[in-house]
Amino acid sequence: MGPMGEFDFIRWLRERTPTDPRVLVGPGDDAAVLAATHTPLLVTTDMLMDGVDFRLEDVDPVRVGRKAMGVNLSDLAAMGAKPLAAVVSVALPRSAGTSLAKQLHAGLAEMAAQHDCPIVGGDTNSWDKPLVISVTAFGVPGPQGPILRSGARPGDWLVVTGALGGSILGRHLDVTPRIAEAIELQRNARLHAMIDISDGLAADVHHLVEESGCGLVLDADSIPIHDDARRMNDGRSPLDHALSDGEDFELAFAVSPEDGARLVGVQLLDKCPVARIGRFVAERGLWIQQHGERRPLPPQGWVHRFEENDP
Ligand SMILES: [Mg+2]
Repeated sequence: MGPMGEFDFIRWLRERTPTDPRVLVGPGDDAAVLAATHTPLLVTTDMLMDGVDFRLEDVDPVRVGRKAMGVNLSDLAAMGAKPLAAVVSVALPRSAGTSLAKQLHAGLAEMAAQHDCPIVGGDTNSWDKPLVISVTAFGVPGPQGPILRSGARPGDWLVVTGALGGSILGRHLDVTPRIAEAIELQRNARLHAMIDISDGLAADVHHLVEESGCGLVLDADSIPIHDDARRMNDGRSPLDHALSDGEDFELAFAVSPEDGARLVGVQLLDKCPVARIGRFVAERGLWIQQHGERRPLPPQGWVHRFEENDP
């Protein structure tokens, strides 16, 4: 690290770590100690690298910290879980000094606090290479237990939160993990299967059908397209962006038609619209339907010619 030194930095971190009843021993000892939960424990991890997942020369490090925490919390949301704690490991470029570490921490801590997730430890190293930041998050199950990708059944609706596409215009760095929404959904509907949209709608729902052993027909006209997707202006259609762009970090989930109709009709989620965008079928595969015509949808997304051929 820079002039401050690792031990000074740990002291700095400890002063900024709020007490939490779930954390018996926080940062500063050889290991953190969490209060036993007596429930299944969920664990997820994600690593972000300068030059691959973001470009530090273009991005405020506070946003990088927010995203590093946010993507992990989004994976907990996808399981219907509540955050319990997180640890953070950082390889800092030596030239950046402690100011970078402090800015990253500001973003990590802000995102973690918004979703009630204490940061209980980690590791801070420096080297002569670009920034690498890895977060591991622990969670406890929501009211319906861990929600897997494998529970969708023929006849279920596929419902999605929010709107999709064009996240590269900025939303990909401003992740809004749907933790509270996933809990609220469980209070209002039986969730059969769920995933967060990180790789793109088509790719991620492909995981749902693979794991559930059934098929899915997406309804092109009901897919909620984000305004960012319409602003892309790169020759690809807004629908193509909604299907193929990654990092929306919305939830896609399978529910019975009865539960789905109630969720969509009453819009039970506060400030987060939900939309029915497809239905699961017995035949294995992934299709998209528009104007009564059904075509196979490859996991990587839209077949561009489809839309151009349409009347
Ligand atoms: Mg995920």
